[in-house]
Amino acid sequence: MAKQAKADYEACQGYANCVMGAEDYFDLDDDGKVVLLASEVPESDEPRVAEAARSCPVSALWLEDS
Ligand code: SF4
Repeated sequence: MAKQAKADYEACQGYANCVMGAEDYFDLDDDGKVVLLASEVPESDEPRVAEAARSCPVSALWLEDS
């Protein structure tokens, strides 16, 4: 089952670890805050998107059951 990518935009500090891990799901805006390029994460992409979310130093990203 697909999951939903979620972000805490207040917590994001713009470290961009998530962008390195999954640049097709995460980007940074002009203010250095994360942007979700796709919120729905199919099962096939879940391992690498979850890993990218875990790489966030301030735990601003997570996946939820949809
Ligand atoms: S890794 Fe975390 S702090 Fe860095 S841009 Fe992504 S969400 Fe923001």
